[in-house]
Amino acid sequence: MKHVGMIFCLTVVLIESQASQSWCQHLRAGRGRPGYKQKENPTRPANIFGVRQENQTEVFVAGDVSQKVEQAVRDALAAAVDVWGSSGRFEYWVLGTDRAAALELAEVFCTRRVARGDMSEGDCRRDSSDKDHGFLHYQEIGANALATGRAHGSAGHNGGAEWGIHRMASSLPLGLAGLLGISAENEQITILHEYWHSVQHSFIQTKDHRRRRQLLGPVWFVEGSAVAMAELTAPKLWQAGKLSSEKEGSRLWENLEKRMIKKMRFVQSKRQECSNLLPTTYGGDCGKLAYDSGGWAIAYLLHKFGDDVLLKSFHPTVETLGWEGAFQRAFGQSSGQFLIEFERFIDLPLSEQVGILPQQ
Ligand SMILES: [Zn+2]
Repeated sequence: MKHVGMIFCLTVVLIESQASQSWCQHLRAGRGRPGYKQKENPTRPANIFGVRQENQTEVFVAGDVSQKVEQAVRDALAAAVDVWGSSGRFEYWVLGTDRAAALELAEVFCTRRVARGDMSEGDCRRDSSDKDHGFLHYQEIGANALATGRAHGSAGHNGGAEWGIHRMASSLPLGLAGLLGISAENEQITILHEYWHSVQHSFIQTKDHRRRRQLLGPVWFVEGSAVAMAELTAPKLWQAGKLSSEKEGSRLWENLEKRMIKKMRFVQSKRQECSNLLPTTYGGDCGKLAYDSGGWAIAYLLHKFGDDVLLKSFHPTVETLGWEGAFQRAFGQSSGQFLIEFERFIDLPLSEQVGILPQQ
């Protein structure tokens, strides 16, 4: 059976540490998982995501998700499209905390998939209860957060290239719902992070799962890019009035420098334990460095080569040159050489490190 690539990205917000931790897993559908139809749609354009110069994001919410939350998600995605351009057909499915409402949303999802020839009804029904990325998984995360009072959220880019879309899902964005003391800004950054994953995918046309994974690059690059682009872009959008900000009312909000310092402290705390600051695989404590260390690595590259180096230089060449080739062309050195340079940067005093961050 042909394997279908699934990328699953998770963002968890823990109120105790007032920090957000994110991680992703690459999952492989195929054996033991619902068999997706590999149906080609000949009417779809050469770009498998059908990229057009307009906002192609669609938001679907469960019945128990408020209009306010829905609009805030739409607004954040619109701001992402405005600043980074369209990544093509994009579906963002937002779950609430009610199980019946989640099942109703799953019905809407399956009706859509079957009508488009993406999945059989039976496969889609089974998919909604998938423990890793099914709708009920996301609903339970929100329900558990409210039941326990422990803020916890999850959002992910769950593949979709085989259908010519970006398939995204999210648990209830607590901060947009005004719950459990999470700031709306945290949720906006999460949405930008997830949208950036769709941007990464939009430059890759192959439907071959293995090849797509290779072209996306190592985990530190995939996640570090999403972290850095979201963290560094959000303040610009707030300042430009392109994204609403309620910082005054958000007691947990921290500015860019504080958020990045927290990430740096995590990196330093793992320095002895983890042999590689830029992990190539998910999993384990060292795998989490992909986010915080990777985020700093990309912030460093953006500082050296410009904010638009990924969009304008790296991504447009990745499918033809391969990940390493595109890296060398965009950054003038191999990824191995960069790792050595980055390790030197990590040894600098904190005051010099934060100096590379854009001034707010
Ligand atoms: Zn991610």
